Amino acid sequence: NRRFLLVSRPEGSPRESDFRLEDSPVPTPGPGEILIRNHYASLDPAIRGWLDDAPSYLPPIAIGDPVRASTIGTVEASGVDRFKPGDWVMGLNAIEAYSLVTPNDFMHPIDVSAAPSVTSYLSAMGAVGLTAWFGVSDAMQPHPGQTVLVSGAAGAVGSMVGQLAKLRGARVVGIAGGATKCARLTDRYGFDAAIDYRGKDEAALAEAIATACPDGIDHVFENVGGVCLDAALRHINQDAQILLCGLISEYNGDPHGARNIWQLIVKTATMRGFLIARYADRFPEGSQAIAALIGEGKLVFDEHIEQGIDNAYPAFMRLFDGTNDGKMILKLV
Ligand code: NDP
Repeated sequence: NRRFLLVSRPEGSPRESDFRLEDSPVPTPGPGEILIRNHYASLDPAIRGWLDDAPSYLPPIAIGDPVRASTIGTVEASGVDRFKPGDWVMGLNAIEAYSLVTPNDFMHPIDVSAAPSVTSYLSAMGAVGLTAWFGVSDAMQPHPGQTVLVSGAAGAVGSMVGQLAKLRGARVVGIAGGATKCARLTDRYGFDAAIDYRGKDEAALAEAIATACPDGIDHVFENVGGVCLDAALRHINQDAQILLCGLISEYNGDPHGARNIWQLIVKTATMRGFLIARYADRFPEGSQAIAALIGEGKLVFDEHIEQGIDNAYPAFMRLFDGTNDGKMILKLV
């Protein structure tokens, strides 16, 4: 059973030496346990938070444990009546060939015939798609004609947020790294305008935002933080809403903090956190809505699949240098 273990807590950017690949015997499930053959693992920025020994919505990954990740796989052997060998399941497991689990709230069967692809349960139909769906349709609720600014816009969450906000009639502007990703925002995901943040300091970024958002910003869907958020705060409208979904630019370094937070007072604006786990009881509703939009050709999504558990470290680090083109997934089988 090849496993990708955490062996030391990263300081700043994770190094390869913070992890180790290890082979151990494949376990046998006892009564009440299931052995899952993991086919795909979801590589999420959230994993970076679980590597730290800091308060979070889940406990830190213990030193010596395999790195926690959402996976989809098939039941290899089962000591639980309702799970049969061959069934497809998804759950919060680990980056390892086989996971021995007792059924929990995170684990559930998946119908691969009802999805655009097996991996879509880790992308459009999974946590990132649900984040975009509930983020836009429940937490943000943009009105027609309002301006929505999305950072991390070419990524898994951001690309879907932009499309969903457009479907509600908003004017959508995205921030992403590089000309290729910016072209993809407008050409493939239908954003009204795209801003390349690379090589821009806060002032230059704020200027680009002012040009792309001539009527100001009514909603910010924040995936990045740092200078992206600070530049956006300079252009928010009265009673604007800022939804903090992620702060990826700050995960590997010192928190930057929102320096222009004074603008919340000036504009009587609201900034609040968003956590997809809070919507767990509504996931079926969200997945159905997303599947319907994909079926109608109204929503597209992209996946970036890397091969093999031995590539777990370089594949994970792509999230932080921006060389992932879509939802980052690791193929384990
Ligand atoms: P993505 O597919 O968006 O991949 C990460 C992207 O972040 C990279 O491609 C890169 O894009 C961008 N990025 C990385 N470092 C920086 C940086 N220093 N400055 C600016 N951009 C950077 O990942 P996800 O869609 O899975 O996640 C996006 C965000 O959403 C993350 O912050 C994540 O933590 C958050 N999230 C939050 C959830 C919640 O419940 N709150 C649930 C799911 C995700 P580029 O090339 O454009 O730089």
